Amino acid sequence: MDIKKETLHYLGYTGQRLSEEENRRIDAAISEVCEAACPGTVHRVFPISRDEKRISIPADLDLNYSDLISLLSDSDEVLVLAATLGLELDRRLRYYARTDASRLVIMDAAASALVERVCDDLQKALPFEKYTFRFSPGYGDVPLLLQKQIVRVLETQKRIGLTLTRSLLMVPQKSITGIVGIGGASKKKSCEGCALFDTCEFRKRGTVCYATNG
Ligand code: SF4
Repeated sequence: MDIKKETLHYLGYTGQRLSEEENRRIDAAISEVCEAACPGTVHRVFPISRDEKRISIPADLDLNYSDLISLLSDSDEVLVLAATLGLELDRRLRYYARTDASRLVIMDAAASALVERVCDDLQKALPFEKYTFRFSPGYGDVPLLLQKQIVRVLETQKRIGLTLTRSLLMVPQKSITGIVGIGGASKKKSCEGCALFDTCEFRKRGTVCYATNG
């Protein structure tokens, strides 16, 4: 994944020409994100069992939501993962929230691009050829609450310092939890069926919340 391309994507750019000054500011923000980030990942792979229409895995993680059942319909195994960019990046983002709103917006976009790349790199390093797209709780009919089970199953606090607040926000803030089907037909993410479809701020800006690098 090209971090700059994806940063521009998250910022809502759709091929517009950037001025020298814009290029400079975006490059500087991306550099700072890469320098401040301390990426960590944790993952587990589970075999999927099917009984009638229900699916189960040997872990305390309930995957019986129609969007997840559909995601995993061609998969025999599921990859459960979490990734974070660490607390120092949060500290920088809080600093720019107080001092430089425009730098904050660019760094936030760059951090979103970077954490996706960390997940992509993790998946590439695993010995599997085909994956579905990464499905995160809060998308489709899968409640954010599922994150609680994921962080418990992956022991994210102990292994990468990733915790959840009572309102289910992740700390560090730039973190991802995801569920990915292994093998079978590759499935791409789309906005179809997303609970936020009508109110989505990304779509209003002409972009989407997920990486578009295929
Ligand atoms: S871009 Fe918006 S509508 Fe599309 S999947 Fe993301 S949150 Fe949902």
